[in-house]
Amino acid sequence: MWSEFLDWFPDDEACLGYLERLRWPQGFVCPRCGQAGEPYRASRKRLMCRGCRYQCTATAGTVFDKTRTPLRSWFAAVWYVTNQKYGVSALGLQRVLGLGSYQTAWTLLHRLRRAMVRPGRERLSGVVEVDETYVGGPARGAKKGCLPSPEAEARLPHGTKSIVAIAVEVHEPKGFGRIRLRRVPDASERSLLPFVQEAIEPDSLVRTDGAFAYRSLPERGYRRHRIVLLGSEDPAHVSMPAVHRVASLLKRWLLGTHQGGVQPQQLDYYLDEYTFRFNRRASQSRGLLFYRLLEQAVVTDPVTYAEVVAPNG
Ligand SMILES: [Zn+2]
Repeated sequence: MWSEFLDWFPDDEACLGYLERLRWPQGFVCPRCGQAGEPYRASRKRLMCRGCRYQCTATAGTVFDKTRTPLRSWFAAVWYVTNQKYGVSALGLQRVLGLGSYQTAWTLLHRLRRAMVRPGRERLSGVVEVDETYVGGPARGAKKGCLPSPEAEARLPHGTKSIVAIAVEVHEPKGFGRIRLRRVPDASERSLLPFVQEAIEPDSLVRTDGAFAYRSLPERGYRRHRIVLLGSEDPAHVSMPAVHRVASLLKRWLLGTHQGGVQPQQLDYYLDEYTFRFNRRASQSRGLLFYRLLEQAVVTDPVTYAEVVAPNG
C-alpha cells in the first residue's frame, strides 16, 4: 500500500534512519578504524566516529552515494519496483514520482538493477534445463498507432539480437525453481561452459539439447541429460518446457514493461532484474522484497552515470 510507504517514510530523514539501521544492524561501526559505538551527529547526514573522528554518511559507498536525487525518491522507486508485479519502466517511474527528467528515472532504475544480484548467491542445483534464446530485434509486439515512449524510440535497429543463455531448475513432478540468465556473445562452448559452471552446482543433472557446446559437462562434474530433438515432431517447448517458458516470459516482459527498448549493452541489467523478480515470484510479502532490495543496495558499490550509460565501456 502506497499509504504505508507514506507513513513509514514521510521524509528523507526517515529514509536515512532506515538506511543506517540496514547498514549497521548491530549499531554504528566506523568504516575507517572499526570502532563500534554511537557516533557523534555532525549534521543531519554526517556521522562522526568517536574514536578517530572520521566522518561518513549512511549512503557513502552504497548505490545511493553522490546522487542528487532525494533519498525519498529512491525509496519510492524501490517501492514501485518491488510492489508492481512486472516492475516499472523509466517513463512510468518518471510519471508516478513526478521526476524532472526521463534521464533521472532511467538512471535511477539502472542503478537499482545493479543491486539486484546478491553477491555470493548460491548456484542452481538438482535438475536444471539449459538452453539459449534470441532476445531483441524489432519489437513485433508493439502496437501500431501508439505514441512511442523514449525507450521505444531507442529500440534496437532491425536485426540486432542478443543471445541469452537460460538455466532453470526443474521441480518434480512439476514446477520451476530458480533461474539464471546471461547474455553470451555466441552459442560456443567457450561462451556457454563458463555460464553453466557459474550458474549450476556440480553433480546437478543438466538437461541440454545435442549442442556441441555442452559435450564436456560430464568431465566438469555434471550429469548430462542430452535431449535430442527429432525434427518437428518434437518441438523445443515439449522437450525443454522450463527454458521455453522462461524465454517467452522474459521476452513478454521486455516488450511489455520496457516496450522492447532495451539496448544490447544494457540487456545484462534487465536480465538481472528479471531474475530478481522471477526468483522471488512466490514471495508472499512485497514488503520483504522492498527490504531485500534496499538491503542489497547498501552493499552495492556506487555506479557513475558514465558506467550506467556505457557498461564495460
Ligand atoms: Zn573511527
